[in-house]
Formats: sequence, structure tokens, C-alpha cells
Amino acid sequence: MKTLRLILGDQLNHKHSWYNDPEEDIIYFMAEMRQETDYVVHHVQKVVAFFESMQNFSEWLKERDHEVIYYQLDAKNNKQTLPENLASLIKEQNIEKFEYQLPDEFRLDRQLKEFCERIDIAFEAYDTEHFLTTREDLTHFYKGKKEMTMEYFYRDMRKKYGIMMTTKKDPEGGNWNFDKTNRKKWKEDTEIPHERGFRKEVSTTLERIEKAGIKTIGTIDKNKFNWPTSREDCLSVLNYFCKNLLVHFGDYQDAMHTDQTYLYHSRLSFAMNSKMLDPKEVIESVIGYWRAHKDEIHISQVEGFVRQILGWREYMRGIYWKEMPAYSHSNKLDNQNNLPGFYWTAKTKMNCLYRAIKQSLDHAYAHHIQRLMITGNFALLTQCHPNEVDAWYLGIYIDAIEWVEITNTRGMSQFADGGLVATKPYVSSGNYINKMSNYCKDCHYKVSNKTEDDACPFNSLYWNFLDDKKEFFKDNHRMNMMLSLLEKKTTYELNALKERAAKIIDNPSNY
Ligand SMILES: Cc1cc2nc3c(=O)[nH]c(=O)nc-3n(C[C@H](O)[C@H](O)[C@H](O)COP(=O)(O)OP(=O)(O)OC[C@H]3O[C@@H](n4cnc5c(N)ncnc54)[C@H](O)[C@@H]3O)c2cc1C
Ligand code: SF4
Repeated sequence: MKTLRLILGDQLNHKHSWYNDPEEDIIYFMAEMRQETDYVVHHVQKVVAFFESMQNFSEWLKERDHEVIYYQLDAKNNKQTLPENLASLIKEQNIEKFEYQLPDEFRLDRQLKEFCERIDIAFEAYDTEHFLTTREDLTHFYKGKKEMTMEYFYRDMRKKYGIMMTTKKDPEGGNWNFDKTNRKKWKEDTEIPHERGFRKEVSTTLERIEKAGIKTIGTIDKNKFNWPTSREDCLSVLNYFCKNLLVHFGDYQDAMHTDQTYLYHSRLSFAMNSKMLDPKEVIESVIGYWRAHKDEIHISQVEGFVRQILGWREYMRGIYWKEMPAYSHSNKLDNQNNLPGFYWTAKTKMNCLYRAIKQSLDHAYAHHIQRLMITGNFALLTQCHPNEVDAWYLGIYIDAIEWVEITNTRGMSQFADGGLVATKPYVSSGNYINKMSNYCKDCHYKVSNKTEDDACPFNSLYWNFLDDKKEFFKDNHRMNMMLSLLEKKTTYELNALKERAAKIIDNPSNY
């Protein structure tokens, strides 16, 4: 039966059983399309990374004698939307069956389902063979439970897959979680071996994007493109991480520093989210390396890393499929302000925001704590509408695909889901930022000042946020301490803080 198999841009799984043997009568289809480049304004490096990786994947398939139709953005036949491209190919090629892998985005899932309802040939959907859980596993796991704390899901995953376990029930090292040891400030006292980077030439792909007039954000060096775009590249990033960075991954997971874009982070999110790397193989490689180097690497570094992938990554995907599509409209804190313009330019006197945003524009990357406690923190404290916050995060990061972006942004960072993902809002004054980074040292503002003209904006915004939302959080036991400190403020103190916060919220770009 002549079959058309669709491969989406984030389905570059070299190990998928589809590719075991080339079969006659199967045509694979991949396309660079405006529907994907235009649904949000993406970072230019993100569009380039996807197109380059897709092209490499199609070449890999062809080398293995699979038949592939690949539409570049400017191909004459390219109708720029998935249903139109598929419909015309089915007709042109006399296709008798259409097959696809289940998309990870709700938008594409719906589009493909609707398409299949309209066609009069057979169709079938396959698993992507990437995740360690199905779309529904998390829903089953939390059925009948009031809270959906990630930790219990993570422990269950450790047991289920026998990962870092001494018996069926007991975690290796005696603890499930070494998070408490993972909160060090980086004081330039350990060496971070810098990777040379890929320095790829991507001018042809970039030219195609520019010629089509696709609106993008951020900058790119077309001769030194530094993201992995093939399976070999991805494996080399993974090996580099194991050999050079794992040793301090946990220690400095929450640290931030003006001289360090990546610190000890792995930069593996794009490799995994495009499915060029398999999460299980990443976990196994890291654990394997650790077992061979136990004298040098403490278990806390490894457990911290495994938790991110086996725990958070799978958990976020489960939440996405459990809660969508309602999740994308949630705004439980009723935040309505616009995201400040400097999120697109980095033009701000607040050094922490300047550093985190500039780095995001230059590299399409910020590590977790920058996303959560700098840009996310400020957006929440200034009470920005989650739609705006989401659109920014979905565009700017190399790894931003909705299933993992929206759950982290709306859920973990903006508390717009009312506390499904996070048990308390991730907000802080300048104190926390000063504790975990060297940003405050060179800042225009003084982190210890509260209401003066040169006071750190995070300070007044923090108390203002707590005061504005105290009704919402009054029954949240994790907020008791913060709210009781708020209560202790005199009316005079609180008014002064609120007055300064109001000025910042009215005109964030002045700060
Ligand atoms: C507001 C906000 C938005 C985010 N948006 C995205 C996004 O669009 N795409 C994305 O992949 N991650 C997102 N994250 C999670 C996390 O910040 C990134 O996965 C991480 O920074 C990627 O860099 P890395 O590969 O160097 O990660 P490392 O710090 O080296 O961590 C290793 C891996 O663990 C996984 N991981 C770590 N934290 C999380 C998490 N919270 N949720 C899911 N997986 C996690 C990632 O696959 C990552 O590659 C977001 C976090 C926040 C707070
Ligand atoms: S003083 Fe405030 S605004 Fe400046 S870097 Fe520190 S936390 Fe950020």
C-alpha cells in the first residue's frame, strides 16, 4: 500500500522503528513551513537550528535508502500549511495510506486529527518512541490525589525504571533528592572548561529565512552557529557534558554569573526536544560515566541531573496533556499588564535582567534559574498577562516547544494555573538574586535599598505583589511565612513600597 509518512520538525528520532528497514512504497515527508515559523515570533537561531537539523535528518534517511520528499521553505510546491501540503501530496503521489507520529503540541495534534477526519484514505498514528511515559500516564498516577507534587511522580519513575536504586524500594545513596546541596553561588573558584563550540556555517539556511521575510528575534553569527544539528553533534554535546560539566552540575545548578552563559548546564534541551537524543540514553550515559568516575563525581551531581529529565521533563509533558487546552487560557492570578518592551531589546538598567535578556537574544539560551528567578520573577512581580509571558518564552529559547514551555512558564513560573505545578509562586526580592549571582555588584540599583530612587526594583515589587495577592494566597501554607512578614510592615512602610512599585509597573522601561 503506497504510504505517506509525515515527520515533523521535532520528531527527528533516529532510533524510531519506522526506519529499521527501508520499505518500498513508503515516502517520508518533511517540510519547512510558514505555519511553523509564524505562529509566534521565534529566535532566529531556533528557526535555523530546526531547519538545519531537519535537513540533516532527511539526508540521513536518504543515505539509508529511504525515499524522502523534503520541502524547503521556498520550494515551488510548498503550500506553507500542513493540511494543504499533505492533501496535495496524497493526490499527486496516489497515496493510499497516511501515517504520522503523535505530535507533542496540542495545536498540531488537533490539526492532524481534523485532517484525518477529512481524508478518504486509511490513516494511522504512531508513538514517537521518545518519552519514558505515555501522554496519559501522569493522569493515571495522580488520579484521586489532591496534589500533584512532582517528587512522588519522580520517585515512581525511579522505581519503575530501576534508575539509581539499590533495591526495588530504596534509592541509591540513601536519599531520593539531594537538592539542598545544590544551591551554591559560583564564586569563580572552580574551573569551567569552555567548549570550543561547533562554529558551523549556516548562511544558506539563514538566507532562505531572511528572503522569505520571516519575522524573528535575536542575533546570529552565520559562521559560528553553536547548536547541535545532527545526531553526531548531539552525542558530542552529551559526551562533553559527562566529561567536563557533570562534576559540578548539581552544585551550581541555581547559580548565575555575569561571565558565564552556561555554567555547568548541559545545553541538551534542544537535542532532546527535537528527539535527536533519547532521554533514556542521556540518563544512562550520565549514570554510566558517573559509575566509572565515582571517586571524582558525587552522587548529588548525578541525581540532580537525572531528576530534571526523568522527573521534571516527563512530568511537564504529563501535565500538558492532562490540562490542555484549558491550560493555555489559565490566568488564576488575574494578571493583566503588558510585558515590558525591554524583553525584546535588553535595554534596562537592572543588571540581572539586562544580563539574562541580552544572553537570551545573543544565544537563544538562558539556564533554568535565569528563566525562573530573573525574567519570570520580574514578569510575575509586575503582574504581566501570562499570554504575553508565554509568547516571549515560546519564541526566544532554542528549546521552546509548547508542551515544555507553557507548563514551565504558565505553571512553574507565573502561577497562572493556580498551583498545579508549583506549590508557591517563584517570586523574590533582590536578596535572592544577590545571594545566587554577582549581578548586583555592578548594578545601577542598590540591592539593600527598598524605596529610594536607587532602590532595587525587585524589593518594592515583591512586597507589592504579596500585598496585592494576599487574598489569593491566604490558605497556602507555604506562603505563611511571607504573609506574616508582610503583616508586620507598618502602613507607612507598605505605602512607600507600594508607591514605588506602582511607578515601576506603570513605566518599567524607565528602570
Ligand atoms: C519560564 C521557564 C520556561 C522554560 N521553557 C522551557 C522550554 O521551552 N523548553 C525546555 O526544554 N525547557 C524549558 N524550561 C526548563 C529549563 O529551563 C530548560 O530545560 C533548561 O534551561 C535547558 O538548558 P539545559 O539543557 O542546559 O538544561 P540543564 O540544566 O543542563 O538540565 C538538563 C535537562 O533537564 C531538562 N529540564 C531541566 N529543567 C526542566 C524543567 N523545568 N522542565 C522540563 N525539563 C527540564 C531539560 O531537558 C534539560 O536539557 C523552562 C523553564 C522556565 C523556568
Ligand atoms: S540590584 Fe536588583 S535590579 Fe540590580 S541586579 Fe540586583 S536584583 Fe537585579
